[in-house]
Amino acid sequence: PTFEAMNLKDDLLRGIYSYGFEAPSSIQSRAITQIISGKDIIAQAQSGTGKTATFTIGMLQVIELKRKDLQALVLSPTRELASQSCQVISNLGDYMNVKTFAVTGGKALKDDLKKMQNGGCHVVSGTPGRVLDLIKRQAVQTRNVQMLILDEADELLSETLGFKQQIYDIFSKLPPTCQVIVVSATMNRDILEVTKKFMNDPVKILV
Ligand code: AMP
Repeated sequence: PTFEAMNLKDDLLRGIYSYGFEAPSSIQSRAITQIISGKDIIAQAQSGTGKTATFTIGMLQVIELKRKDLQALVLSPTRELASQSCQVISNLGDYMNVKTFAVTGGKALKDDLKKMQNGGCHVVSGTPGRVLDLIKRQAVQTRNVQMLILDEADELLSETLGFKQQIYDIFSKLPPTCQVIVVSATMNRDILEVTKKFMNDPVKILV
């Protein structure tokens, strides 16, 4: 399998090769075309499998760069992961002029408000509390969000972090047709609950 065979946009393919990838990893071979086809997906995959580039490449193929509205949302359990994913999106989308912002707790809210107000952001990568806060303040507009990614979903939904209600609140603000992609190292009751409540006939991919 090759990235060419996935029929990706030229400027996306160029971003992938410039980033140094030559061939897709296993999860990339199996999940990217499913993402592009619009299916809801549960991928059971650990860090190190190429999971970040999987949802990033799928997302970059689907979003319309000539539009200026927010089209995809990535939720991560930690500030570091949210920032890293933002960086990967920005790097792989280098030739596409994709505009992406990381919004995380621990940084001044007013800075996030200001950068969102300037507009034109296609993808937001953040932690649940800050994302929900920005949605409630109408700084993050969810009206046209067509893809939600829960990265490290087992962590995101764990009791310890206490994000579950915030994530459910975020779901309630998204269009009902929004595609949902869940990436998780393990499967558990919380993930199955999300599947039942918010996903439509998801494809399961085990790496
Ligand atoms: P992740 O599973 O997202 O944490 O990615 C693990 C590492 O694999 C990262 O350093 C990626 O840059 C790298 N990686 C992801 N996909 C590929 C690929 N197709 N070829 C080479 N390296 C990759």
